[in-house]
Amino acid sequence: MIALNPDYQYPCQCPKCKNNQIQTQKIRLQGIHLLAQCQCKTCHYHFLINLPTGHGLYYPTAIGTDDLQLYPHPLAIKWLAQPLLEAYQNPDNTPIEIEQKVKKQYKEVIFLNCLDFLYGHALLKLLNAQQYLEKHPDKGLILLITPNFEWLIPEGVAEVWILKTPMRKTQKWLTALENFFDQKRTQYQQIYISPAHSHPDFRKIDPSLFFHEKRFDINKFQENNYTITFIWRHDRLWLRHPFWELLLIASQRIKALAWCKNLLIALQDDKIRKTIKKIRKAIPEVQIYITGQGKKTNTFAKIAQDLRTEQIDTPTEKQWAKIYSQSHIVVGIHGSNMIIPTALAGGFVEILPKDRIGNITQDIALPYDYKDMLFLGRFLPMNTTPKQLAFHLSSIWKIFPYYRKNTAENPEVI
Ligand SMILES: [Zn+2]
Repeated sequence: MIALNPDYQYPCQCPKCKNNQIQTQKIRLQGIHLLAQCQCKTCHYHFLINLPTGHGLYYPTAIGTDDLQLYPHPLAIKWLAQPLLEAYQNPDNTPIEIEQKVKKQYKEVIFLNCLDFLYGHALLKLLNAQQYLEKHPDKGLILLITPNFEWLIPEGVAEVWILKTPMRKTQKWLTALENFFDQKRTQYQQIYISPAHSHPDFRKIDPSLFFHEKRFDINKFQENNYTITFIWRHDRLWLRHPFWELLLIASQRIKALAWCKNLLIALQDDKIRKTIKKIRKAIPEVQIYITGQGKKTNTFAKIAQDLRTEQIDTPTEKQWAKIYSQSHIVVGIHGSNMIIPTALAGGFVEILPKDRIGNITQDIALPYDYKDMLFLGRFLPMNTTPKQLAFHLSSIWKIFPYYRKNTAENPEVI
């Protein structure tokens, strides 16, 4: 953690002359990023550099404030460095309400910034809260969130700062937030900055702290009817042919092609329907749910319980979390939509598009070790057929008892 004293000096290098003699003039909160405003003592270059927190831990990025030169990390140019430079050049001065909910006052506090323009990034940062509540009960934990994360605040948090703005706006340079932070930080004897790891260790995370439901117990795998939940998406689809994937992208960008999207969704839904029918044939007593943001239709009538909704609110989130915690397996396409389901369910089967292979596991919260992780966590390619997916899903149920006997319950035979 960074102890953010008034005279805090961030040990960094001048991006221009590479000298280490740097004067930190100010710490600034942009939105997603905390940055040090610095001057090089050798070449007098002025620059901003992100502190090692959130994605700043592994993607150090600097901006020359005299010449607007960008010094990005090569793997974080488009999604981190360029938006940061744009935000610096175009500060957003609109007033934003920031609600400060104080549950308990502390002199020493830990500041965990959970802001991000991507849902998954913000959620994963929020899950860092548990370690501070457990390891630093003498310090108050402050969470900075957008309103859609309010239902996930764990017990024991000292303060919550709720930035009343949509997630996408956190990429901008929010002067209202910067002023709020500057004013508040002086009110504590000591403020520490959490590194806000982007990929916390799920083996150490208790999902019930955040999602209000216990994780599915795989030791009771056979106690109830096999339950499978499909996580439905309308913006990233399970499509067989690469051409349809291109058409989906085009239909989301070009107005004249918008009509194609419903056609592509229908193709996906037909595959899901075929999959469900095949599983039902193999395991008649199977219980199947559909969750996700979307209009409830007759598409899955009689073959599944359709819990989709267009407006996601806290009761919906809690209802879905309960279903995930009762699901032996959750099925979905790669994305942040898989984090909460895989944190609560017994296992998952994920359709992994080719362009997301580089992001494999980033959306997975399953905490197992050894073979359980492979048996209960499966990635399948986009061209997987309903028959293949149904076979995976039914075989998990049928083979699990023998798999457990052969692994977890393996007697010590000499
Ligand atoms: Zn320099």
